[in-house]
Amino acid sequence: MRKMPGQRIVELSVTPVPVQYRKELGTNSRNDPTAQTRTEWLVRARTEYGQEGLTIANRFMREFDSFDSSAGTVRGLVALLRDSFLNHRVDEYLETSDGRVVGVHEEYKQLFWEHGWMSILAFDLLGQDLGISAVDLLGGQVRDRVPAYDTTLYFQDMVHPENGAAQVASEAAKAHSDGYNEFKIKVGRPGRWMAPQAGMERDVEVVLGVREAVGPDAKIMVDANFGYDHRLDLLEDFMRETLPANIFWFEEMVTADVGDYRVMRRIRDRLGSDALLVCGEVDRDPPSQVFRDLVDQRLIDGYQPDSVSAGFSRWQALEEWLEPTGVRSIPHNFGNGNFGTRATLVFGAASPTFLTLEDERHYPNVYADDDVSFSDGAYSVPSGPGLGLKIDTDAYQSKYAGHEALITL
Ligand SMILES: [Mg+2]
Repeated sequence: MRKMPGQRIVELSVTPVPVQYRKELGTNSRNDPTAQTRTEWLVRARTEYGQEGLTIANRFMREFDSFDSSAGTVRGLVALLRDSFLNHRVDEYLETSDGRVVGVHEEYKQLFWEHGWMSILAFDLLGQDLGISAVDLLGGQVRDRVPAYDTTLYFQDMVHPENGAAQVASEAAKAHSDGYNEFKIKVGRPGRWMAPQAGMERDVEVVLGVREAVGPDAKIMVDANFGYDHRLDLLEDFMRETLPANIFWFEEMVTADVGDYRVMRRIRDRLGSDALLVCGEVDRDPPSQVFRDLVDQRLIDGYQPDSVSAGFSRWQALEEWLEPTGVRSIPHNFGNGNFGTRATLVFGAASPTFLTLEDERHYPNVYADDDVSFSDGAYSVPSGPGLGLKIDTDAYQSKYAGHEALITL
């Protein structure tokens, strides 16, 4: 049978796939320790000629609240996928021009805006149908290698309290020897987990220790998850005392607020730091008003809506808005599993304003090995059509298929 473009989707499936960290992660400034095993809600969509597109529905499944509604349940997800994809043509979702995606077709605009992860599936399916990479669909490759940062330096001093700040430094040294050159450190101990002054001092000790462990050439970022709210005085002390560590960006030091960011920016300038101020992962409907204000008034340097939740289509629209402002794209990617790493890699390969990939460094799970490699702190760009990502069918059958929900004509 000759393959014609615009194949139909004839089958989908939903499967919970466990994904594991390489170590125990501590708490951040707000939450209890991160579970060592999380879930990728894998969605597979197969076409009449046997091609397959992938995404994950983690954002949808996180909406679970109670058994009174189908939000966040497999039955709800199955119904949504059946409506949105089954027996549809793979080329009816995205608007293209010169081989590039320039928007979403009218009927799907609202759907993909709300469920951004669906747009990634549409890119994958269309790319495979046309035999071209999603990197090209996103506008073409702008870098040969995509830098990535280790995002697993949580409050590791609380996982191994006997080692104190040295625990974080030793884990950073290990990540450095694994080939990473960029490291994000959770800070914000003053907010909840420690007495404010002692927490700030521990934050400083951790940052200076990591800098010593990874050497002068690595990038170091810090993320307080708002742990300095109401304590701009302590934040100023933290920023001053970590000047020797040459921090590359300050993430969510306080809750997004025009007044507080104005103060923080003044502190930063007065101290002579050129670190970026970044935030936005908590924006569930980006860009919402406070982030519009922060960008329009040039109070932040990077914006961080989630890569998979916002999806390729919404991120394309966000970048169009950000482009003239000079604010960088730094998609949040935590909690998106191995799929998220691939989706963010593809996005980062095509985005001129992208900075670096948030890497959870999970163990491999359900995806087949391919041509992507990691070395010197960066990933190579996949060459296959779509996301260039395939399921390891043996692993899938033996480990995960028992929990599959199938959607057929
Ligand atoms: Mg963060």
